Amino acid sequence: MSETRTDIGEIGEFGIIDRLTNGISLKNETSIFGVGDDAAVIDGGPDEFLLVSTDTLVEGVHFNLMYMPLKHLGYKAVAVNVSDICAMNGKAEQITVSIAVSNRFSLEALEELYAGIKLACLEYDVDLVGGDTTSSVSGLMIGVTAIGRVKKEEIVYRSGAKEFDLLVVSGDLGGAYMGLQLLEREKDVFKSNPMIQPDLDGHDYIMQRQLKPEARHDIIKYLKELGVKPTAMIDVSDGLASEILHLCKSSNVGCHVYDEKLPIDAKTSMTALDFNLDPSTCALNGGEDYELLFTIKQSDFEIIQSNPNFSIIGHITNVEDGVYFVDKSGSAVTLKAQGWKHF
Ligand code: ADP
Ligand code: MG
Repeated sequence: MSETRTDIGEIGEFGIIDRLTNGISLKNETSIFGVGDDAAVIDGGPDEFLLVSTDTLVEGVHFNLMYMPLKHLGYKAVAVNVSDICAMNGKAEQITVSIAVSNRFSLEALEELYAGIKLACLEYDVDLVGGDTTSSVSGLMIGVTAIGRVKKEEIVYRSGAKEFDLLVVSGDLGGAYMGLQLLEREKDVFKSNPMIQPDLDGHDYIMQRQLKPEARHDIIKYLKELGVKPTAMIDVSDGLASEILHLCKSSNVGCHVYDEKLPIDAKTSMTALDFNLDPSTCALNGGEDYELLFTIKQSDFEIIQSNPNFSIIGHITNVEDGVYFVDKSGSAVTLKAQGWKHF
């Protein structure tokens, strides 16, 4: 070990991953693609690849049990992993679940967590095939690994975007972040005066976006039906801006993204304005929407353009042109990612 001590807060999550995985080379012929996409890719026979993805949720970092019901937490832990398999254009088939718990939790509480996990397994048609159970002295941790499958010719990496492709996102953005802001506000009100009950009326949509996010497996099926194969794809977990930068970096391209094209639900906008936040900023940097961000060839424009499930939010440029966000007045600024800062 060297004498230098680098604070992990300084380099952030992606800096840490880069440093730790630096110099790793794949030795097995079956290891097709390692670190750097939404899931690892493993040879699964002549026609198929296997996909593997892991995500861990930590109490106090990713969830707060004051407002996150355990059943929802279980559902979300599965959904976020299935989402990464979707982002490779694959179908999740199995999961394993690891939990670290303290004796603060009763068996019944853990059964609630598993009720959510089982519900997600039903929804996404995946089988729970194993896991690990251990004790924790600092809250609850839940780690899920998802295993999926994709036909070799159908796999989509982050790295396939080409100049002139169109940048598309499914659904709408910023809702999960506004749901979190609302829950945090009501939690603070409740803490200062437990007699005041949370006022969440009329906010069902954004609450659901935060508490019960869905992996867009429906979009993967739908794109197949439409005959559209994305050229590159990533799921929106950290925030649109962060994911656009990942996609452009992996594909070695630039991009123009248009503020006026960002899909933001009216309820998300209203809540953002209520909080004195700019709705576009929430959509760009909020995170946890678990929508799919992908690029398509110009020839697929007609099919996607008129479809209410999709928004064309920009276009891919040459890498030298950089990654730009064009605001409503038409001025372009370099796109920066705030994303989630866990460290
Ligand atoms: P996602 O947001 O899609 O889950 P991440 O940003 O968490 O992806 O991870 C990016 C890439 O880095 C993935 O390929 C993931 O497998 C890899 N990765 C993350 N953490 C580690 C680690 N500690 N060791 C090795 N690889 C890691
Ligand atoms: Mg991902």
